[in-house]
Amino acid sequence: MPRSVRASDPLTTRVPRQQRIVIDGVGMTRAVRRMAAHLPQVGMLSDDEVTAIVRNHIESKFPKLCGNCGRQYGSLADYLRRTTHLGHPVSLDDPATALPEQLVGAISYANCPCGSTLAISSSGLDVLTKFALLQWAGASAARRRISIGQLLSDLRQRIDDDALQSDGGGS
Ligand SMILES: [Zn+2]
Repeated sequence: MPRSVRASDPLTTRVPRQQRIVIDGVGMTRAVRRMAAHLPQVGMLSDDEVTAIVRNHIESKFPKLCGNCGRQYGSLADYLRRTTHLGHPVSLDDPATALPEQLVGAISYANCPCGSTLAISSSGLDVLTKFALLQWAGASAARRRISIGQLLSDLRQRIDDDALQSDGGGS
């Protein structure tokens, strides 16, 4: 079988490899990806681990106060019973390109009975945990062929159900 002739790009084949990286945006993106690959690996989290991490984090936000009307929510279950979720949770990072030190995070909105919008965000989680959660979200959404918003909505539903159930059945 004859060896296939590889098409080579005359613009770059004679440039030393190190310098090629900085020639254009594409090369730069590859270089950044390579750097990301050398960051500490935390391993892919399981769905159960993600649920536990995110639930613990959310519960650490309570008691929570509405700055507008002064209502205090003593627990996640209390919050879930008296507020209304507003849309899907929003992830502000792209799992394919995000770097740990540049993560923005995710946020979930809900309406207080007074009409004010309350938010619970990923702020306070350490960077590597946020990065691992983002990698989980990217891989899980791709595998299930759903948007990250839908994935996070499903995760939130699971946590809400658990929180209400462990608080006395949700009735
Ligand atoms: Zn309020």
